Amino acid sequence: MRILHVAAEAHPLIKTGGLADVLGSLPAAQHALGHRVSVLLPGYRAVMAAAGTLEPGPTLNPPGGPSIQLLRGELSAGVELLVLDQADYFDRPGGPYGDEQGNDWPDNHLRFALLGRAGAGLCLQDPAIDVLNAHDWHAGLAPAYLEAWGVDCASCFTIHNLAYQGRFAAVQYPDTDLPGEFYRYDGLEYHGDWSFMKAGLSYSDAITTVSPSYAREILQPQAGMGLHALLNYRRRDFVGILNGVDYRVWDPSRDAVLESNYSTKSLQAKQANKKYLQQSLRMEPASDRLLVGVVSRLTTHKGLDLVPAAIEDLLASGRMQLSLLGSGDAALEASFKQLASRYSQNCAVVIGYDEIEAHRIFGGADAILIPSRFEPCGLTQMYGLRYGSLPVVRKTGGLADTVIGYKAGNPDSANGLVFNTASVTALRRVLNRAVKLYTDRDLWKGLMRNAMRADFGWDKSARAYLDLYARLIAR
Ligand code: ADP
Repeated sequence: MRILHVAAEAHPLIKTGGLADVLGSLPAAQHALGHRVSVLLPGYRAVMAAAGTLEPGPTLNPPGGPSIQLLRGELSAGVELLVLDQADYFDRPGGPYGDEQGNDWPDNHLRFALLGRAGAGLCLQDPAIDVLNAHDWHAGLAPAYLEAWGVDCASCFTIHNLAYQGRFAAVQYPDTDLPGEFYRYDGLEYHGDWSFMKAGLSYSDAITTVSPSYAREILQPQAGMGLHALLNYRRRDFVGILNGVDYRVWDPSRDAVLESNYSTKSLQAKQANKKYLQQSLRMEPASDRLLVGVVSRLTTHKGLDLVPAAIEDLLASGRMQLSLLGSGDAALEASFKQLASRYSQNCAVVIGYDEIEAHRIFGGADAILIPSRFEPCGLTQMYGLRYGSLPVVRKTGGLADTVIGYKAGNPDSANGLVFNTASVTALRRVLNRAVKLYTDRDLWKGLMRNAMRADFGWDKSARAYLDLYARLIAR
């Protein structure tokens, strides 16, 4: 098959979250299974700097608009990279979606409409492309352009997070050059505005999301973010496929960033990473104290607002340590910084985005905390599993699909701790359980081995996407 992925992020070129990890690894897994795979990305300043040598790629001439120039390179061995060469939209300081202060770019609807036009334009110009897989709202207009231009190419839209919908005002709609009749309630109109996400959901042949549990959850009004009715309407074309992990990047036995590499056969060697983390963060180097790591965007949807109140006693009494790396919500950043200044022996907070530090936390922590209110898939619990840093998670979305909570009676299968309610009390309770469990070294080591043996590699999920594409092409 010839597969075109269209997305706003892909590791290692540009990353703000799990979307990038998926685009860095799913295409490579599909290529390894014998398919020809391309990834189309906006040419942000960071992408241009990181992509290496780029050659001139196709010039597209989509209907009703100026031509679009693409550049061509390689994302990873065998995976073609196509980059939108549009400096006035993408050669800017700041992030992919906003300026250095975090304000959205005012022309985001134009920037990402161009991404959709380019994706659909490629399929129009090259009929050998069998399927276009658009990811998240940024690529949501690609299936709409395919429909508008009558392009005979199968399309799949993947929801990585339904909370971000790319919603814009009615006056901005004519800028897309999409047909006026698409602006209706069963098209992309959305409560008087219009939405990229809704376009993707309405005009793609199939819809996927990133875990089976999240797929079930977003059919319900409580989690469906206003789009559950549309998802129910499209239920026969909608499926949850669990994300995978790129074990080329996330493997404690080979991770070059770690102080000491380790595997299930050398668990003791993990201790050196804990010590390094504690020392580098100026925490007390206590080997017998449960060190909990957090690597996350700081938002309330991740449940991190519950953490300070839930862990304060544990930090104050020296029964637990916390190493947090993240950035986002200013109030959350401030409350974690305050916690770190009060309990510096047991709490270290790094505000920012740092891939290397993230690897060190997965390597050095005993547990990884993810108390999300909702979590489409989540990757950090799977990194925690592979690094033997037991995930402590709320039972939701992909967290529920990947972590088996310890209960007396399942030491041979459990690989973490799971709690149900998003409350300070429930979080405090599960953390106290973790602290207690950690004192039983043999039991804890058994759970670490279970965790490290869990296999969430891409192979199975990449095949699930391919099976779905094959069904769409055969229709
Ligand atoms: P989301 O996409 O909702 O942010 P995921 O768990 O799916 O959550 O993916 C998050 C990805 O971003 C993981 O690879 C995680 O390690 C990484 N990450 C999150 N915050 C940071 C940070 N501050 N520094 C480095 N990596 C981070």
